[in-house]
Amino acid sequence: MRTYLDHNATTPVRPDVIETVAHAMRTTGNASSVHADGQAALRLVETARRQTGKALCARAEDVIFTSCGTEALNLALHSAIRAGGAGRILHSAIEHEAVADTARASGLPVEEIPVTAAGLADLGWLEDRLGHWDTERDGRPALALMLANNEIGTIQPVAEAAALMREHDGLVVVDAIQAVGKIAVDFAALGADYMAISAHKFGGPQGVGALIAACNAPLERQLRGGGQEKGRRSGTLNVAGIAGLGLAIEQAVAGLDDFARLADWRDAMAAGLKQAAPDIHILGEGAPRLPNTLGIAVPGWKGETQVMALDLAGFSVSAGSACSSGKAHGSKIGNATGLDADASRGFLRVSLGWNSTADQADAFVKAWSEAHGRARPEHSNALKAVS
Ligand code: PLP
Repeated sequence: MRTYLDHNATTPVRPDVIETVAHAMRTTGNASSVHADGQAALRLVETARRQTGKALCARAEDVIFTSCGTEALNLALHSAIRAGGAGRILHSAIEHEAVADTARASGLPVEEIPVTAAGLADLGWLEDRLGHWDTERDGRPALALMLANNEIGTIQPVAEAAALMREHDGLVVVDAIQAVGKIAVDFAALGADYMAISAHKFGGPQGVGALIAACNAPLERQLRGGGQEKGRRSGTLNVAGIAGLGLAIEQAVAGLDDFARLADWRDAMAAGLKQAAPDIHILGEGAPRLPNTLGIAVPGWKGETQVMALDLAGFSVSAGSACSSGKAHGSKIGNATGLDADASRGFLRVSLGWNSTADQADAFVKAWSEAHGRARPEHSNALKAVS
């Protein structure tokens, strides 16, 4: 039997959500059709819109369903640039490629906000940069910042950054994709213009997400066509996926107290790994972090090699974000937090989730320690203990 500890890559779909998706798939109807079948589909969509708004302290009418988190982030950034007139993009050095690549491709100047050794965007840098902002020269600022980091789970100071941006008439895009369902997310309190979410990160189906756009946020249509989602995002709605997203976010938010307890197992895992390999780095330790995420860096033992060894032992974990796995440059977070290249290449992410158990966490520590003892015998306490 395999053990899945890669919940930041994607989560197992919750059983009730599978039922809801299956029910919606049996409900024939295009949510734009005026007949009774279409209206039944529309009701499923509007229920999900209400569930999403409620879960995120946002107005239901500000929820725009999309095909994934990446699409929502693209829509937000393109809106900030084309409709909001942004002239320059600021984003942290640890943003997901859905932000970084979109910013690069925009043709606008892009500036990276450095992160501290603890894995937090450097607000002092942002304040200083905005203090020298010259709107004539630099244009309107747009900021993209993740609420929680996908690799080590550090919770970024988004509300503080948004307040700084407000003083400069800036636009703020929040990537809340890793945060939703893991910590409470209050769109209204963040003070952002746009926020992206993705169902498959909180027990919903893959291929459906949403953009929350504040009522006065500039919006530029990215997909044009039949005018769905009040003209803000055309394309026949994925009714089944959206219904699944709605129930998944409701259940995930209802389970936040249980989720918070994962931090105990995460910390016990960190202690166990450190006992076996005293020279490993626990990234983001001491900073506010998602309860489920453990990011470690092991000098001299490549992340990809660890992933393969653990895969053989029956565990699914990852050497970085799912879409950057397999690339040999080390983890984004490791490089940004100032780890040397060797340790950064040894990055491994273990992420627990709604159906993880304490036994799985214990079994992981054992399997990792054994694999580590074989790979780096001279650095291993596991072997020392038995030899
Ligand atoms: N942003 C972050 C922080 C993510 O972790 C991910 C997914 O890994 C994305 C954006 C992209 O979301 P999606 O897979 O829904 O396109």
